[in-house]
Amino acid sequence: MSKRSGRRRFLLSAASFVFSIAVVAILLGGGGWWLLAHPETPVPPHWNPLRELKVNAPVTPVTRFQLNRALANEGQCRAVLAEAGVNFEAMEDLVVDENCGIAGRGRLSALVASKVEAVETSCTTTLRLTMWEHHVVQPAAQSLLGTQVSRLRHVGSYNCRQMRTAQGKSSGWSSHATADSIDIVGVQLADGRSLTLLSDWGTEGPEALFLREIWQGACDWFRVVLGPDFNRLHADHFHLQGPGWGYCR
Ligand SMILES: [Zn+2]
Repeated sequence: MSKRSGRRRFLLSAASFVFSIAVVAILLGGGGWWLLAHPETPVPPHWNPLRELKVNAPVTPVTRFQLNRALANEGQCRAVLAEAGVNFEAMEDLVVDENCGIAGRGRLSALVASKVEAVETSCTTTLRLTMWEHHVVQPAAQSLLGTQVSRLRHVGSYNCRQMRTAQGKSSGWSSHATADSIDIVGVQLADGRSLTLLSDWGTEGPEALFLREIWQGACDWFRVVLGPDFNRLHADHFHLQGPGWGYCR
């Protein structure tokens, strides 16, 4: 066999290999799509990227995809919250100027299992908060403190202001100016105990462990999370922010 015909045979078999891979991928891809889109698909909804997010479904690698879709679509965001039993009364968008306002605005007063002092915020912030409450805060309260969180304490979401830094004012606008953040200062427990970041963060024991766990767990549902370890401006609250560059401190 000459060198040239050997090379040609190699090229031919390589081409047919690529071709058959492509055919298999198309068949599998089409079949996969059919399998997911079929109304009686055996794929569970929390593993199916074509299905809508359900707050109380188990978290899978597909959950993030479903969440991102709900965050990008106000109607779907509101529907997911309503289905979970979250009390988020729809309000008209707040339009102030190019820096301030609330899109997808509503009045939040209760999450899945805990109450919240009524606050005007966005649907996206509410949805992230709901996922955090259901998948992080309540399970941590149950496992570390043996009780439930009955009330989540906050000090507001919307605030038309510029960012604050430990060095003084900075030029950028705060994510609070668009209600893309909420500040959490503590929790009320169902057994009557009340925890605050200011008095319980630096202590030893299950209360402090609980606060550290829900701070770390917030990073799964918010892109920017700042707490008492970040700087003195956050000594008394968690700053939970939806959009951002993935910062957890
Ligand atoms: Zn904040």
